[in-house]
Amino acid sequence: MSIADNLAAVRHNVELAASRRREVPVTGPLVKVVAVTKNHTAAEVQEALAAGAAALGENRVQEATAKATLLPPAEWHLIGHLQSNKVRQAVPLFTLIHSLDSERLALEVERVAARTGKRQDVLIQVNVAGEDTKSGVAPDGVAELARLVSGLKHVRLCGLMTMAPFYAAAEDARPVFRELYALFAALKAAALPNTALEWLSMGMTNDYQVAVEEGANLVRVGTAIFGPRHY
Ligand SMILES: *Cc1c(COP(=O)(O)O)cnc(C)c1O
Repeated sequence: MSIADNLAAVRHNVELAASRRREVPVTGPLVKVVAVTKNHTAAEVQEALAAGAAALGENRVQEATAKATLLPPAEWHLIGHLQSNKVRQAVPLFTLIHSLDSERLALEVERVAARTGKRQDVLIQVNVAGEDTKSGVAPDGVAELARLVSGLKHVRLCGLMTMAPFYAAAEDARPVFRELYALFAALKAAALPNTALEWLSMGMTNDYQVAVEEGANLVRVGTAIFGPRHY
């Protein structure tokens, strides 16, 4: 199957998953697929763009920057951990940073965005399952970081992101997605100023259909679109 066929199949599965929802979630009926391009070539990314990929996701600032220079303008999302010393390179490129995970990083993004006159959209990454190997704030730290970000002029909080642990059965990830959805709904209800809480980023190749059933409206899918990564 081609990259275009794969993308179409993912979109179709997303629609089916959304139709299995029991009610319209607070995130709304529409779901956006972020095509995760890490470890894939610019030529492969070009194929996804030609097939209508709405957004491209990369884990590393340098890899994204290198690819972006070879491709037409596109909507790039940073989905991997962001180090403070990479913020200067990241802010000009990324439409959305999914991985805000500390006050220190928020302040650095504010500093750089203010200097370049950009308002940087971000999601707070939440380590719902408390895994040592994953970054993200603990669920009980979300409200505090959200309050801090809502006080920054050049950073706009747009939602939450999580990576579920890898389970052989995707169904096992459902409680993780439910918990993030509840955190998102509570945050939205808090109506913090200077926020635009519209994105709930959860679900990867292994579990995006369960994530969509639980209210995700941004899924980050690599392998199901591009095949196995070349390392
Ligand atoms: C690599 C990655 C993905 C995509 O993973 P697949 O299993 O290939 O779909 C999604 N989110 C994050 C944060 C990633 O690092």
